[in-house]
Amino acid sequence: MGGSGGGGRYHPLTPAQVGQEFLSAGSEIQRQLDQALLAQKLEKLLSLPPSDDLRCLFLDAGQGNCAVVRTPDGRTIVIDCNIEGANDNVVRMLKKAGIADIDVLIATHPDWDHVSGLASLAKHFRVGELWKVTFSKTPDNASPESVEAFREYQSAVAALREGGTRIVNPTVDTYDRVFGGARVEILAPFSRDAADYRDANDACMVVRISHKEKSILFAADTTQATWKELMNRGQVSATVLHASHHGSETGYVPGLMEAINPSLVVVSVGPNPHGHPHEGPMSAYSKAPGGVRRTDDGLVGLQIAPDGTLTFAQ
Ligand SMILES: [Zn+2]
Repeated sequence: MGGSGGGGRYHPLTPAQVGQEFLSAGSEIQRQLDQALLAQKLEKLLSLPPSDDLRCLFLDAGQGNCAVVRTPDGRTIVIDCNIEGANDNVVRMLKKAGIADIDVLIATHPDWDHVSGLASLAKHFRVGELWKVTFSKTPDNASPESVEAFREYQSAVAALREGGTRIVNPTVDTYDRVFGGARVEILAPFSRDAADYRDANDACMVVRISHKEKSILFAADTTQATWKELMNRGQVSATVLHASHHGSETGYVPGLMEAINPSLVVVSVGPNPHGHPHEGPMSAYSKAPGGVRRTDDGLVGLQIAPDGTLTFAQ
């Protein structure tokens, strides 16, 4: 347009024009992303180049959790990593997408259905940072099998540390981190003192990732006490809720949906002896305009596009 005519006058681009140019540069990728979502080729959300957008995959991790987030600057965040009994193996999926580095690995709490893949990830990837809680399992607060599994988790943490991973214990007081414009907030735990918690679920890390005024709230297996405190603090609104504790009653309180006001709820659940997900919370979650997606129905993928549009597919 216009070229360099007009007497050689300098025409600086307005921010709107720059934005336009940037968007049109990214639009081919956006077109491919839209196609991938439409055709349910959701793994492509990991392999297509970044485009100022945020992508998230909730894996079919069996009765456990695993989500992979790609930030607008192409970093990879893995939130929990169940592999045992999982239909989607996170190691295989990341490798297939050509991802060699996990920038941030978040172990929301040391229950096996959230961390059984930690040793595997430590073996196959360079992990920049591990975010974990301080809670420790002992014979006083956990079953012998659970204490045994906790020892395996501790070995995996040690292997990561030896491999150069920075190990941190963020809390609600930790500064937000920003990756390519996407903000990562820690909403819980409230304390770094392991003695403040009765069990692992009480100590859960709750994470919210926001981009272009949309957000995803990863509730892990957080408990009613934590929800009540977060609701008191007015800190729970989100566009997408990754429901707590596999849709269990213990991860839900009345008024939660009004406080969060999500457009979509995702429940990570698989075959289990606890009756998860429970009917009460599921009926509340189903009131979200976009409804509820369960990972036992398959991989759930979503994208927050550069213009703030949220698209999801399963
Ligand atoms: Zn769990």
